[in-house]
Amino acid sequence: MYEMIRSELTDAVGEGFVVTSNSDKLGHSVDYYWIPEMWHSRGLNNPTADFIVHPGSAEEVAKVLKIANLHKIPVTPWGGGSGSQGGALPIYNGIILDTKRMNKVIAIDTKTLSVTCETGINAQHLEWAVEKAGFSTMHLPASIACATIGGFLAHRGTGVLSTKYGKIEDMVMSMEVVTPQGEIINTLPVPRHASGPDLAQLFLGSEGTLGVITKVTLKIHPIPATRKFHAFLFKDMHGAMTAGADIMRRRLRPCVIRLYDEPETKHLIKRVLGIDKNGAYLVFGFDGSEAIVDLEMAEACNICREQEHEDLGTEMGEIWWENRYKFFYPPYMFHLPQAFGTLDTVATFANIENVYWAMKNVVNENFQQARFIGHFSHWYEWGCMLYARFIIDEPPADPREAVALYNKIWDMSIRAAIKEGGVLNEHHGVGLKLGRLMKDLYGPSLAVLTGIKKTLDPNNIMNPGKMGFEGV
Ligand SMILES: Cc1cc2nc3c(=O)[nH]c(=O)nc-3n(C[C@H](O)[C@H](O)[C@H](O)COP(=O)(O)OP(=O)(O)OC[C@H]3O[C@@H](n4cnc5c(N)ncnc54)[C@H](O)[C@@H]3O)c2cc1C
Repeated sequence: MYEMIRSELTDAVGEGFVVTSNSDKLGHSVDYYWIPEMWHSRGLNNPTADFIVHPGSAEEVAKVLKIANLHKIPVTPWGGGSGSQGGALPIYNGIILDTKRMNKVIAIDTKTLSVTCETGINAQHLEWAVEKAGFSTMHLPASIACATIGGFLAHRGTGVLSTKYGKIEDMVMSMEVVTPQGEIINTLPVPRHASGPDLAQLFLGSEGTLGVITKVTLKIHPIPATRKFHAFLFKDMHGAMTAGADIMRRRLRPCVIRLYDEPETKHLIKRVLGIDKNGAYLVFGFDGSEAIVDLEMAEACNICREQEHEDLGTEMGEIWWENRYKFFYPPYMFHLPQAFGTLDTVATFANIENVYWAMKNVVNENFQQARFIGHFSHWYEWGCMLYARFIIDEPPADPREAVALYNKIWDMSIRAAIKEGGVLNEHHGVGLKLGRLMKDLYGPSLAVLTGIKKTLDPNNIMNPGKMGFEGV
């Protein structure tokens, strides 16, 4: 049977594009989720796929999904494998559908200001291609070099300039999707209409459970004439939050605002930027034409001066921009053998500080082994994202105990956040890691999502066991 399926898959995608070597299986058994990384680092095995399949087109994806339906084999899409939620892990074996051969830039439309590409393209490669034509996608996440555009679409990912240019779901004009039963469909060619619900939004964030996104048309932007930054230090996080929220409430258009709580300011801002201060560090930027940027910048600075502050000036803001990716990589980012989790959530301005304190108190009061730090990125006119983290410097030596402790911190923190009006996640997705908490978040409305899943994927082949959906 195994050889028969291998030959059917080879017929679908071509000789050499169905891989079954142990090294490839191992490489596709660990993403950026801490548990499989830890498990692997302690010499234990994670589940592996039976076949790693590399289709070169939507038509080939459709053929693979039809074969999988026929034999009822699980299929897990895999982009860059940089997801932190275990979404791309083949927990029920079967097929890994690696999208990276589908990596073409198809067209840049300078009248509409859009780019159409295949979704297996590396996000940095897409950005370079668009920049070569004099534009930018303005999707600049910290994982730009190691993730695919499909991965961001599947997770509703967010780049550093989201406050002005939006999350990836705001950037989409239209998409091509291969449904679980192997039909190639397109969403409508424009993102605003009154022709029924927006199908694109159904597949955005579906994490490979409702199909494979194979093409996308994204908005692009002229490269701005200038981009300027300014930093302030506030006595505490509350003052900084009031200033940041006021910038948004007064409808200024910063491209970025980032606010670090007192512990992150004391440790991370000091280590990465060399700014050794007590308080809460806030940085913001504006981009566009010089005259408008200067006006908005002056207005934002005036808003900050309404709170007790120290003006750190432009240089202390620019240094943040230049070092913005460093925060997410060693030696500044936590790594094994430490345990860490990014408890990212989003809430309204009315709730966001309560969410922060609820999570922090849960970690500090219940887990003496853990530390809690956080910053606020991705600001909207109604609220912002909390990028909180817990860190355990010395997790239990027994891997099972380490998993139990890790999961307990997640469960208690997320439940505390939901109680205060936070949601499960802002831009990393649900995956395997948080699936069990979907019921806490959605309550009875989870039935709408499970109903859609059952209708589109009656054999439950697409990424089973993820996003709170049934396993096999
Ligand atoms: C150092 C670091 C920094 C990070 N910074 C950011 C950041 O700034 N912003 C951010 O949003 N994320 C960030 N992440 C998380 C991660 O990069 C994103 O979640 C990214 O979207 C994952 O893309 P990927 O191609 O690696 O997807 P994978 O990890 O391969 O897959 C993720 C999920 O998407 C599904 N999937 C992948 N491709 C498709 C497709 N074409 N169709 C349907 N489903 C698909 C998979 O099945 C899986 O469920 C960071 C990660 C790291 C390691």
